[in-house]
Amino acid sequence: MSPLIIQKNYINGEWTAPRDNATITVYNPANNDILGIIPDLGAEETESAILAAHRAQDDWAALTAYERGGMLRKWYELMVRHREELALVMTLENGKPLAESRGELDYASSFIDWFAEEAKRSYGRQIPSAQKNRTLQTIKQPVGVCGIITPWNFPAAMITRKIAAAFAAGCTVVVKPDHRTPYSAIALVKLAEEAGIPKGVFNLITGDAATIGGVLTQHDLVKKISFTGSTPVGRLLMAQGASTLKRMSLELGGNAPFIVCEDADLTVALDALMAGKIRNAGQACVAPNRIFVHEKIYDEFVEALTLRVRALKMGDGREDGVQLGPLIDQKAVEKMEHLVTDAVNKGAHLVLGGESPGQGSNFYPVTILSDVSQEAECEQGEIFGPVFALSSFSDDAECLARSNASEVGLAAYVMTQSLRRMDFYTRGIECGMVGVNSGVISFAAAPFGGYKQSGLHREGGEEGLDAYLQTKYIAVQN
Ligand code: NAP
Repeated sequence: MSPLIIQKNYINGEWTAPRDNATITVYNPANNDILGIIPDLGAEETESAILAAHRAQDDWAALTAYERGGMLRKWYELMVRHREELALVMTLENGKPLAESRGELDYASSFIDWFAEEAKRSYGRQIPSAQKNRTLQTIKQPVGVCGIITPWNFPAAMITRKIAAAFAAGCTVVVKPDHRTPYSAIALVKLAEEAGIPKGVFNLITGDAATIGGVLTQHDLVKKISFTGSTPVGRLLMAQGASTLKRMSLELGGNAPFIVCEDADLTVALDALMAGKIRNAGQACVAPNRIFVHEKIYDEFVEALTLRVRALKMGDGREDGVQLGPLIDQKAVEKMEHLVTDAVNKGAHLVLGGESPGQGSNFYPVTILSDVSQEAECEQGEIFGPVFALSSFSDDAECLARSNASEVGLAAYVMTQSLRRMDFYTRGIECGMVGVNSGVISFAAAPFGGYKQSGLHREGGEEGLDAYLQTKYIAVQN
């Protein structure tokens, strides 16, 4: 077993082992083998973790941004040094191919690198006064203890994108990772401990999500919740946090339109679509969901896509050359089966795939559906799997209206060589992020987040640091 598979929690600088009969089993989704166990802790331990974070808060915030930045830098260097072991842990618990795990780790560590520097730039400002003899200024201060809840699809990046920003701002945290992929998160805690992050600053707890989430959202000492996950759970956490007016950063589900205009470069469009959709077997919030292709190039596009998809290699992520791993669990496979049947019943044509290998396996083949109707469930909501749902359009205004016909608005993609079309779609689309001629849009220096019910606030960039700071205004009579 990898030394970075640690079956413990971390509260107040102490490693907590599971108690008898209070454990959660973690599986490898590629073969359903047991990887290990983690503690199944509850309300009492969540309270202890919050108190530890609270006790550590003032001293942590009192360090200079340079001191906190220095520790973040050490954490980043340890992540880089242990990249290969961390990649194996991620592939074992999440199923993604090793090359993708390495890519996620580079992306994850880039947030620590970015926020280690950005910590030094949490500037306040001097405001010119309308009256003589007054000085008006603002300063930025950390919001305080943060409750952090993360999903399984990017087990390392969803941790660092939040926590590096929280630490840079001077906040302490209590983290609850997903029960399916806890080991990447726990390994990152271990490296943070080695980097010198003081006791109580970084606490991690595993157990029943509703219990832990309930305590975090309703506790007076927790000043902010940062959650990445599904829109329904985001709504629930926001309702629970209302009684204490909790600050909320929510990174929720998407339903990304991928628009291929009649003037698009087809190779560029196919590269972008494959990069965006195949990553993590389609289990990404920004994955292209509704693929709209102009009718003039529709048949050619479907044919070229089919050739590319046929060439993909699916298998255990540890094997050489594998580009596509399993889905996270059986429920995810059943969802793909349901969405494909529903789309076909509503008139879609099954071009490729659609047959799962059978009971017990978490693998689902890459599937292409053409002529998907607007009523199909895979157009109405997030697919979150390797199903390409294509339909054609004849007019840009009609395509924009169809793209915006969604209650969520995280990412969108536009493939065009026309400046006029680029402007039309990028301004008109109701999404927090738009990729033009690219399926890869997420970088540590850029603000990641959604419009509409895809969430609140941004992660990454200067906005990512700001989400963990509050502004104090000071008026001085000289
Ligand atoms: P999920 O069910 O919402 O789970 C995400 C996290 O929330 C897990 O840690 C889960 O814990 C926890 N959770 C579940 N119920 C909870 C409750 N009642 N109270 C507190 N915590 C609770 O999401 P998912 O379906 O596994 O993850 C995929 C979703 O995440 C997709 O919708 C995807 O679009 C979204 N996502 C968004 C972004 C973004 O940046 N916008 C990035 C990645 C993923 P347990 O699993 O341990 O029960």
